[in-house]
Amino acid sequence: MRRHLLPLLAIITTALPAQESRQLLPVPDKLVVLTFDDAVSNHATFVGPLLKKLGFGATFYVCEFPPDFETNKEQYMTWDQIKSLNDMGFEIGNHTGHHKHLNGLKKEQLVEEIEFIEKRCAGHGIPRPVTFCYPAYVTSPAALATLTEHGYLFAREGHGRAYDPAKDNPLLIPSVSLSGSKTEPFYNALKQAANGSIVVFTFHGIPEHTHPWVNTPPEIFEQYMRYLADNHFTVISVRDLGRYVDPSKARSAIVEQKH
Ligand SMILES: [Zn+2]
Repeated sequence: MRRHLLPLLAIITTALPAQESRQLLPVPDKLVVLTFDDAVSNHATFVGPLLKKLGFGATFYVCEFPPDFETNKEQYMTWDQIKSLNDMGFEIGNHTGHHKHLNGLKKEQLVEEIEFIEKRCAGHGIPRPVTFCYPAYVTSPAALATLTEHGYLFAREGHGRAYDPAKDNPLLIPSVSLSGSKTEPFYNALKQAANGSIVVFTFHGIPEHTHPWVNTPPEIFEQYMRYLADNHFTVISVRDLGRYVDPSKARSAIVEQKH
């Protein structure tokens, strides 16, 4: 009996169309995505371990921020630290090689900036990034086209509102950027995580040394994370949006709506 079972299973598995083997989940209420920009050292020493303890997913958008990524290790992670976040199960996303604003770049410069991080990841045993984050939230049609050619599934920008997968292009996902000690923007944003919408948060250093205008105090951040855990939010990475959204279908549906 057992002899016949294996070939039969092989036939069943190969006969299934690819899309049927990947069932999308409905977007639940209280779905939150966490993103952390600019490869700040405390992402590895403080944020990652805290999120791991709470069972949260997150994306760390890395670049080699000029002029002192190589030497200023109070501010920036080493590549070994970036790899350690990957090994803890977090997503490493592409934030360009050198935090370049994309709107002024020629096609070959765009490609160079995107591939720089892909090569660094390959060199450190980190999977090729599948999601992207626009430096300073600056986008351009050429950037979108280049990301599509490079197979990126999702890309994050700013705008300060929730992400509606039925309306927003998956390569232009809005996010709510948090910094400072005022907590209302965090709690107000969470109210939008309902009825099919997802709240994507952007953080920088916790704390920041080099860019104080995007500083988040560690005790405030801990308060946010405890609130998410105590109130049973689902907290994921940008890559994990693929459980709920088929990015290529979402993109074509949105293009059709606009015509
Ligand atoms: Zn940045």
